[in-house]
Amino acid sequence: MSIVRALRAVFAVVVPLLLIGLTTPAQAADWPTPVRVVNRVTTSEPVVFITLDDGWNHDPAAQNLLLDRRVPASLFLLPGAYSYDAGYFHTLLDHGPARVENHTVDHPNLTTMDAAGQRGQLCAAREKALAEFGQEPRLARPPYGAYNDTTRVVARACGAKALVTWTYDFTTWSGVTPPTPALKSGDIVLLHFNETVAVDLARALAAADAAGLRPAPLRDYIPD
Ligand SMILES: [Zn+2]
Repeated sequence: MSIVRALRAVFAVVVPLLLIGLTTPAQAADWPTPVRVVNRVTTSEPVVFITLDDGWNHDPAAQNLLLDRRVPASLFLLPGAYSYDAGYFHTLLDHGPARVENHTVDHPNLTTMDAAGQRGQLCAAREKALAEFGQEPRLARPPYGAYNDTTRVVARACGAKALVTWTYDFTTWSGVTPPTPALKSGDIVLLHFNETVAVDLARALAAADAAGLRPAPLRDYIPD
């Protein structure tokens, strides 16, 4: 067999295998089931869910608050934001009930990317979190809350059981603190590790207290 013919034979097998992850459900029987998208949890329990994104600011006051209150926060961390100071998050994950979740590698708008691009972002972020913290992310938060049908399928392929957005953003952006809503059971609170994270987190915990709600681990309230 000539080299050209041998290569053709290899490509005839390999190329369809590569494409199988990029086709539509009608074309591939093993296409993963799209994950659900969750912006709040339906529950009768008096619980609220605290989530913190990105991870650029490593404020000791926020770390203390999370540990002292034993907040089972979901941390949607970017690898670039923990690679230079992973200890901050190791302390949170090893000494408290917080869990690391998936927020992609580079924080792109996933809806601008094809399936392979989205898969590269979500699967690589999962692997990096696993390698650094020994914990597997089970939830994925698309940057900017932007996702499409492809994202829901790719998230499943990359180990997530849900795409999580949020009910209320408590983040102070550019010095502007949003009005504090009356929280209800099942609400998902969005915060960011920015320069006001400790104050924003304290405000969110106070709002939960005022509503008689306790912070609970989000991944435990979302079925597989
Ligand atoms: Zn983000």
